[in-house]
Amino acid sequence: MSALIEQDGPLLVVDRVSKAFDGTRQVRALHQISFSVARGEIVCLVGPSGSGKSTLLRIIGGLTQADSGRVLLDGLLIKEPHPAVGMVFQRTNLMPWRTVLENVLLPAEVTQGTVRQADREVALQMLRLVGLEGFEEHYPKQLSGGMAQRAVLARALLQAPELLLLDEPFGSLDALTRERMNDELLRLQSVQQQTIVMVTHSISEAVFLADRVVVLSSRPGQVVAEIAVDLPRPRELAIMGTPEFAHLTQVVRAKIDQGERVGATLGHNVA
Ligand code: ADP
Repeated sequence: MSALIEQDGPLLVVDRVSKAFDGTRQVRALHQISFSVARGEIVCLVGPSGSGKSTLLRIIGGLTQADSGRVLLDGLLIKEPHPAVGMVFQRTNLMPWRTVLENVLLPAEVTQGTVRQADREVALQMLRLVGLEGFEEHYPKQLSGGMAQRAVLARALLQAPELLLLDEPFGSLDALTRERMNDELLRLQSVQQQTIVMVTHSISEAVFLADRVVVLSSRPGQVVAEIAVDLPRPRELAIMGTPEFAHLTQVVRAKIDQGERVGATLGHNVA
């Protein structure tokens, strides 16, 4: 019975997380952030630049410690990077001296000390899934930006993380490639049923991908709104041309604007 309750509960709980950075002046980055993410859900974090989105993602990933509050993954306190959590950042790089396949296998090699045949087979399958079949033996410099980012995604997916944290993973790509990557990501997620928390500056990307968009205010980041995206799945890129999509992007934009005013009114930028 308890196992059943556990399964039904959220996979991720962010509970009143606050964070400030000390320097010549103390910068309050996050203030009492709370939200939760269900299994298999895609949540996008949006907000003005500097609203603490990356910091929040790093705290969820166990890379940065919160000053107060806590992050629970399946009920367990996150204090350091967890094997069930995969991360892809904007400037995540492939190692130039390793082939695509060797790059994808790197985490397995590091954690196990060796690469098994089974790992190799799953890596090849992941590369097929992200459309890089035939490029396994290529080196990163032989790939386009979009292909390199897909290889990074394959590397994260190979670990079969329950939770995938994506920080502007497609931010450096041109608009067309970015849309294709979004499409790709949804296709992969529908196969693997990953839970995803993704930071993005793009409102349309957030609405296209997410089940829910969490809007942060400007510094210190606070949750201004959680907007449910009730567009049907599977989603095709064409959905971006619908009035429902346009309406949702307007709602998110209005909340971001509101969030900018909240930050300004509080004047909490520097403690
Ligand atoms: P966002 O991702 O929303 O742009 P960030 O999380 O990168 O916001 O940054 C939030 C605030 O915290 C910014 O003012 C930033 O300068 C500050 N900050 C982030 N990381 C550090 C750090 N390691 N040391 C000092 N200040 C930091």
